[in-house]
Amino acid sequence: MHEMETRIAYKGLAEGVHRFEWELGDRFFAAFDNSEIHGGKVHVDLALEKSVAGLKLDFDIRGEVRVDCDRCLEECTVQVEWSDDFRVRFGNEPVEFDGELMWLGPNEAELDLAQYIYESVVLALPLKRTHADCAPEGVKFIGEDEFKRAEAGSEMQKMADNPEWQKLKELKNKL
Ligand SMILES: [Zn+2]
Repeated sequence: MHEMETRIAYKGLAEGVHRFEWELGDRFFAAFDNSEIHGGKVHVDLALEKSVAGLKLDFDIRGEVRVDCDRCLEECTVQVEWSDDFRVRFGNEPVEFDGELMWLGPNEAELDLAQYIYESVVLALPLKRTHADCAPEGVKFIGEDEFKRAEAGSEMQKMADNPEWQKLKELKNKL
C-alpha cells in the first residue's frame, strides 16, 4: 500500500466512528530520512470519531521492524506494539501538537498521519534491540574464572609457547 493512504480527508466524513486499517511496509519507512528503522511490516488500526467538537483518533499499532542489533551491529528484527490516542480541534490556535491535542485550521481538509505513525513506531521500539544469540564479530568470550584457572594451572607452561594461547591472552587483556 502507498503511504499517501495515511491521509484522511476528514471534512467529508459523517459524524460517528470510522475505522481505518493500513499495512505499512518498507516503502513507508523509506520515506523517513536517517531513520534507525530500516524497514518492516506494521499493521495500523485506527478508530476515528468525528463529532461537532472535533476528532478523536485511537490508534493500535503492531508489527515488526528491522533495526541495528546493539551487540553485533547486523540487522535484527524487533516487535513493536503501541496503543495511543489524540484529539483534534478546529481553529486557528498557534499551538504545537503535544501528542494529545492537535489544532487544525479551518482551511485544512486533510490529516496526514504518516509522521505520527512513524514516531509512534520509534517510541514503541524495545530498549533491548539484539538478536537472541549473537556476539560482536571476532570476539570470543572467555569466562574470568576459566581464564584464571588456566593461567594458574600446570598446563600454563606447556601452553606458554603456544601462539594460539598468546593471541588469546592478548585479546583478553584488551577486553
Ligand atoms: Zn546481533
